[in-house]
Parts: sequence; structure tokens; C-alpha cells
Amino acid sequence: MSMMPGNLIIDIVTEKNETEFQLRFFDDGKAGILHTRTGESYFVLDSSDYWYDLIQSRYPPVKKCSCENDWFKVRFEYIIREGYDEFRSVFIDIYCTKCNQEELVVIDFRHSPTMQLYETPITFCEKPVIKYSLHLLAGYWTTRSLKKIIKHMCCSLDLKAYCWFMDLKERKKYFKLTDYKELRAIVGSSRFSYTAIFFARTEMALNEMIEEIDTGDTQKDCINEVYVKEDIWRTHELIKLGGPIVIASDLAWFGLREYYMVSFCEQFICDGAVVEKSEEFKELTSNVLKWMNSNFSTARGANCYDSKLL
Ligand SMILES: [Zn+2]
Repeated sequence: MSMMPGNLIIDIVTEKNETEFQLRFFDDGKAGILHTRTGESYFVLDSSDYWYDLIQSRYPPVKKCSCENDWFKVRFEYIIREGYDEFRSVFIDIYCTKCNQEELVVIDFRHSPTMQLYETPITFCEKPVIKYSLHLLAGYWTTRSLKKIIKHMCCSLDLKAYCWFMDLKERKKYFKLTDYKELRAIVGSSRFSYTAIFFARTEMALNEMIEEIDTGDTQKDCINEVYVKEDIWRTHELIKLGGPIVIASDLAWFGLREYYMVSFCEQFICDGAVVEKSEEFKELTSNVLKWMNSNFSTARGANCYDSKLL
């Protein structure tokens, strides 16, 4: 492929030879879907990986041309990364079937786009809308509230806690099974910065949760990296507590608190079907929700669990 001059272009045609589409794209270019005149749907590139997760909170509207028409012809342009056998990005050119006006959509890749995305630019999708049970809880918490939650998870519910954190003094990242005592030290000290804590009913295989490990070279400034699979909590029976997100303007409004997110789901999508997690996990998540409801302020709205004002 590196022998090829210039970029690769594909005019999108379905197996039924359809070339006109209605489009739904997420604005940030994370995923998109095409609908044909005969009512079929197709995922754009690797959108199937993210589509169902993204539509749980918002179903993107059908794209419209400034002339009000919503049917388009679609062309993918694969931009080659110089010197590599891979693509840097894919531009999606869309042409209005009525006024022929052209527009450009850029798709960002989480991983390096591969040749497979060129060989299979679109993938048939039987059901564009599938809802599953997903909870994304958000809250402004004091450190005291954070420790209270961790204590509840580790001690009252007796869950296993896995922490992904960085020791800023050692300049090293860790992902390990930990306990309440150690977590208290991690979240309460400026020596550590943590990305996420995962809670599980039973012990997990750490290597299943890690994406890749770079044992690091011996350079002084090198940070040893461990990457935990970002979405592991979706398919596994895990409750994810993300590290604090600092939002300056909101912090001023709510006092000295940081913004946190807790994510978990009792179902997930695999090959276009809803897969149920265990009854034990569902019982656990319903307990967690009940406990959050009685210990936090839900005044700011649905899925918001803020530290109660003293
Ligand atoms: Zn138009």
C-alpha cells in the first residue's frame, strides 16, 4: 500500500446497488450510519463499535442540505499516512442529490485505521436503534463524599477494587487490585493521580482488562505506561468510578468540589443483540443506585448525585 501514490477514493454503493442515502452522524465524528431508499441501514467504517453506546443518550437527526433535501451520494477518501501502511483519516464527501452541493465530514479513529476499513467501508446494520440498560451517574463531590463511596463499595458491599493510577513521584502508572485502605491513600494524596477505579463482585483477570503494556525503556524521564481498556465496564460486570474532572467555572459555583462520573450497565450490545448481565450484578447495581439516592442530593436533575450541602 505504501507503494500507492496519493489517496484512495470509494464511491459508496450497497450490495443492492443503492447509491443514495440519508445520513446520521455524531458531530464529533465518532460514528455514523447510512439509510437507503429501500430502508436498509449501514454503519460507516467502524461505527458499529461505538454506535449503540452513543445512541443511548442521543439519536442523531437525519442530515439535511441547506436546500432542505436529506438524500445524499457518499464518497469516502482515505488519506494515507506518509511512510506507513495505514490511513491517517477518512474524509466523507457527501453530495446533495437535489442541488449537488458538497459537504465534508471527517471521521476520527480511536485506533489506527486499517486496510479492512478500505475493503469494507460500510457494514450492514439490521437494527439501528437498540436500547439497553445503561447508567451514567454524575456528581460534584467533596473528598469526604468520595471516600464515603469507596468505603461503601469496598467494606459494606465487599467488592473487589481495581485502581488505575499514577505515582507522580516514581513517574509510573499502575493498575492493580487494591483495598479501602490503599484507595484512601491514593485519592487523598497529591503524590497519586488516578484515572479510574473499577469495582467487581468477584476477582478479575488483570490481563483481560489491560490493552497494552509498555514496560518502558530506561530513559530517566520515561513514564511507564499501563492502559486499561476504556470500555471494559460495558461488557464486564464492573462499576467504573472515573477520576475527578476539574471544571473551573462549575467549581466556583458549587464550592470546592470536583466532578465525578460513575458508569455501569446491566446489559450490553453484542453483534446487534442485547446481552444480559447476571442477576447478582443487577441486584448489586440496584443497591448502589438506592444507596446513592439516599446519600446524595439529586436536586440538580436526572442522574446527578451531588454531595449534600453541609
Ligand atoms: Zn441540496
